Amino acid sequence: MKRIYLFGEGNKSQKNLLGGKGANLSEMVTMGVPVPMGYTITADMCTEYYANGKKNADELLADMKEYNKKLEEATGKEFGSKTNPLLLSVRSGARVSMPGMMDTILNLGLNTDVVAGMVEKTNNPKFVYDIFRRFIQMFGEVVQGVEFDLFEEVLDEVKEKNNYEGDLDLTGDDWKYVSEKFLAIVEKETGKPFPQDPEVQLEMAVNAVFESWDTPRAIYYRNHNGIEHSWGTAVNVQEMVFGNTSDNSGTGVLFTRNPKTGTKEVWGEFLFNAQGEDIVAGIRTPLKLEEFAKVSPVIYKELTDILDNLEAHYKDMQDVEFTVEEGKLFLLQTRNGKRTGAAGVKIAVDMANEGLLTREEAVNSIDVDAIDQLLHPVFKEEAMASAETLTTGLAASPGAATGKIVFSSEKAAQLKEETGEKLLLFRKETSPEDIEGMVVCEGFVTQLGGMTSHAAVVARGMGKCCVSGCGELSINEEEGYMTINGVQYPELTPFSIDGTTGEIFAGSIETKAPEFSEEFQTILSWAKEIKRLGVKANADNGRDARQALVFGAEGIGLCRTEHMFFDEERILDVRRMILADNVEEREAALEKILPHQLKDFTELFEVMDGKTVCIRLLDPPLHEFLPQADEAAEVAKDLGVSEADLLRALETLHEFNPMLGHRGCRLAVTYPEISVMQAKAIIMAAINVAKTGKVVKPEIMIPLISTVEELKYLKGFIKETADALIAEAGVELEYKVGTMVETPRAALIGNLVGQEAQFISYGTNDLTQMTFGFSRDDAGKFLKEYAEKGILPNDPFAAVDQTGVGQLVELSTKNAKAVNKDIIVGVCGEHGGEPSSIDFFHRTGLNYVSCSPFRIPVAIIAAAQAELRNK
Ligand code: ADP
Ligand code: MG
Ligand code: MG
Repeated sequence: MKRIYLFGEGNKSQKNLLGGKGANLSEMVTMGVPVPMGYTITADMCTEYYANGKKNADELLADMKEYNKKLEEATGKEFGSKTNPLLLSVRSGARVSMPGMMDTILNLGLNTDVVAGMVEKTNNPKFVYDIFRRFIQMFGEVVQGVEFDLFEEVLDEVKEKNNYEGDLDLTGDDWKYVSEKFLAIVEKETGKPFPQDPEVQLEMAVNAVFESWDTPRAIYYRNHNGIEHSWGTAVNVQEMVFGNTSDNSGTGVLFTRNPKTGTKEVWGEFLFNAQGEDIVAGIRTPLKLEEFAKVSPVIYKELTDILDNLEAHYKDMQDVEFTVEEGKLFLLQTRNGKRTGAAGVKIAVDMANEGLLTREEAVNSIDVDAIDQLLHPVFKEEAMASAETLTTGLAASPGAATGKIVFSSEKAAQLKEETGEKLLLFRKETSPEDIEGMVVCEGFVTQLGGMTSHAAVVARGMGKCCVSGCGELSINEEEGYMTINGVQYPELTPFSIDGTTGEIFAGSIETKAPEFSEEFQTILSWAKEIKRLGVKANADNGRDARQALVFGAEGIGLCRTEHMFFDEERILDVRRMILADNVEEREAALEKILPHQLKDFTELFEVMDGKTVCIRLLDPPLHEFLPQADEAAEVAKDLGVSEADLLRALETLHEFNPMLGHRGCRLAVTYPEISVMQAKAIIMAAINVAKTGKVVKPEIMIPLISTVEELKYLKGFIKETADALIAEAGVELEYKVGTMVETPRAALIGNLVGQEAQFISYGTNDLTQMTFGFSRDDAGKFLKEYAEKGILPNDPFAAVDQTGVGQLVELSTKNAKAVNKDIIVGVCGEHGGEPSSIDFFHRTGLNYVSCSPFRIPVAIIAAAQAELRNK
C-alpha cells in the first residue's frame, strides 16, 4: 500500500486520496510551478489511525522516516540541524475544502538548539525568535491543547510595556523573551517540557491533524454540508518558506478573477514581512494586490504568468495562496475559487470567449443553484450588516422583500389601493382565496405548510419570495398582531424577509433589483443549443406568460384555469354555477363566466404567438369556491338565496378528504357542461387570435384521470364542441386533447392512455402525494425527521423520487410511446424546475418540462447539463 506521495507523484485527479490541497500541490510541482517541496500522507492513513484506536501503524512511521530523507535530499537541508535546518509545515487537507475547520502547524522542527544555530547563521534574531514563538504557540494550541489566551497575554504585556503599536515593532530580544515565556507556559500547562526532538514533534503534529477531523465543529460542519464522516483528511508535510524574514518578503492570497463580479482581474491582498494566517487574522491591514504590483513589479509579473498558466490548466478561476521569501516567489495552494452566481456566469462566458473553455464546458461549469440568485431581488450587503434574524422558516421561494406586515388578503388589497405602500402578507396558511392579496404584496410568510404549500407554489409562480412553515410565528388576525418568540408585532410593522434563506427580520432592509447581464443571456443561448428537453412555463395569465417568454420559455406547459375563477368579479357567477339545482341554471351561470375565460385565453394566445399553450380544465373541488360558514349570511344576500340554502350546499359539498375527493375530471364527469364551457372559451379564443394572423396551438388537458374511460367520455364532449366551432368559423385550427397523469393508476395504464391522449403531462406533485400516500400540505411535519434519520435522502416534493415515483413516470412513458409514437410527454409539477429531477426526466425520454417562469433559466441550464452528462 502506498501511504505517502512525494509532491509530483500524485496529481489533481487524486483528491479523494490526497485531499484537495495535496492533489493540487502535486499537480503544481509537475507543472513546474515553484512550490516548496513536501509529501502527502493519504487520507486512508487517517481512517486507519481511527481504526487502530487513534494510533499510527508502524509501517506509516517507517514510511515517514523514508520520506523525510527524500525531503532532505530534495531541499538540501537537514531535519534538526543547527547549521542548515529543514523546517516544516504540517497541513490538513480533505477531499473537499472545510474552511477554517482543521489545523495547520508552521515552523515545525525548531528547538532551542536549532534556534541558537539559526541566529548565529542568519544574524536575524528578530526573524528566528518570531518563528520560534509562532511555532510554540501553534504547537501548544493545536497539538497540546494549551489555551490561546495564555499566549496572547504575554504578547499584550510586552506591547504595553514598550508602547508598541503592532507585532512588527517587537525586537529580536522581545521575541526571545516571548518564546521563553511560551516554553514555560507549555511546560506549566502540560506538565512536561516542550518536545525538543523534531521527529517527535512531527508525529505529534500529524496525529493532531488527524484528530482535527473529529472535533465537534468539524463534525457539525460535515453534517451541515453533507460531507461523509468516513473520508478522513490527508496531511501535507512541506518545507517552510518564510514571508517574515524582512521587508523583501511577504505573503498573499488571491483569486485569479474577481469572485463577486467575475471581472478578469487578479483580486487579492498582500502583507509584507508576514507569515501564514497574518492576513486572515486581521492583525495588520493588508495591501491590495495592485499596491504590491507597484512595489514589486518583477515578482508580480512572474506571479501573473503562473496564474495564467494555472487557469489554463485547471480551466477555472483559481483561489491561490503564495509567499515571497527574500524576493523569491512560492505558491502554497491553488483550488477552484468560490464565486457568486453572477461571477460564475461571467467567468464561464469570458473563459469560453478567451478559448479556455468550449461552450459545452462553460455551460457545464455553471452552478445551477446559484442561477436563482440572479433572478430575484436581494438585500443590499451594506444594509445586511446590522440586520438581525428573528426567526427562520423554510426557504420556499427565493428573493428578498421588505414591507409592512398585514395578516389578511382583504386588508392587503385595501391598503394597497389606499396607500400604495409595500406590504408583506403573513398568514397561518394561504388558500386560493388569498390570491388578490398575494398579487399586491411583495412576499409571503406562512406559519404552516411546506415547500409545496399553496403559498410556496403561488410565490414561485409569481417570482415573489416566500418563507413557509415558520413554526415560531403565531398570528392573531382578529386583534391585528403577531408574536415571534414572545414578542408582539402589530399590523403594519415594517419587516423584511428572505426567501432564499428562510430568514425573517424586523425592520426594513434595503433591497436591490436583479440585473440580467449580457453574459447571462449568452450562457442561456448556449444552453438552449445544447439541451434536448423542451422547457415550458406554468403560467395562468398574460403577465406570467410574458415573464416566461423573457426567460426563454418555449410554450406554456400548464395554465391552471381555477385561478381565473377566483377573481372578485367572477366569483359570484361561479358560486351561482355551483349552487345551481339543474343543468339549465348551471348553463346560464356558465354562460356568464364564458366571456371572462374567453378574454383570459385570448390574451394568453396572443402573447404566446406560435407556441403551445396547454390549458388544464377545472381541477379543485368546488367547495374551495364557496365561502366559509361564518361568511354565509353575507354571501347568501349577494347571491339572492337564503342563508339556510347556502349552508346546506356547503354541507353537501363538504368532504373528509378533498384532495382525494370530487375534483378534477370527476367533477367534469358529473357536470360535463363545465368542460364544454371551458372548451368553448378556449377554441373561440383560439379562433379569434388565429384570425388576426397569429399562430395558435391550443392543448386541452383533462386533469386527474384514473381510468381511460374518464378520458374518453370527456374527450367526446370537448371534441364535439371544438370541431363544431372550428367548422362554423371556417378556419384552419389544430388543437390537441390530452391528459394529466397524476394518479398511480393512470400511470400504470400508459398503454391505454396512450391510445386516447395526444399528450401526457405528469403532475408529479399529486403523483408523489398519492404514490407515497403523503399529504402535500402536512407531510412537512415529519419529512424533516425522515431526512435527519436517513429514511428519505430528500424531500420527495422538492426532488422527484426516482426510485419509486420516477418508475411510474418511466413505465407510463414507455407504454404510452409504444402505442402512440407521436405522443408528447412532459412534466408540469414543481419538479419541472429542479435540476436532479430534470436530469431524470431527460434520461426517461420526456419531451419537455414545465416550471414556474422564474425557474426557466435554471431549467434551461439544467437540461443542457443533463444532455452533456448523459451523452
Ligand atoms: P488552510 O487550509 O486553513 O488554508 P493551509 O494549510 O493552507 O491552511 O495553511 C495556512 C497558511 O499557512 C497558508 O496560507 C500559508 O500562508 C501558510 N503556510 C502553509 N504552508 C506553508 C509553507 N510550507 N511555507 C510557508 N507558509 C506556509
Ligand atoms: Mg490554505
Ligand atoms: Mg394535480
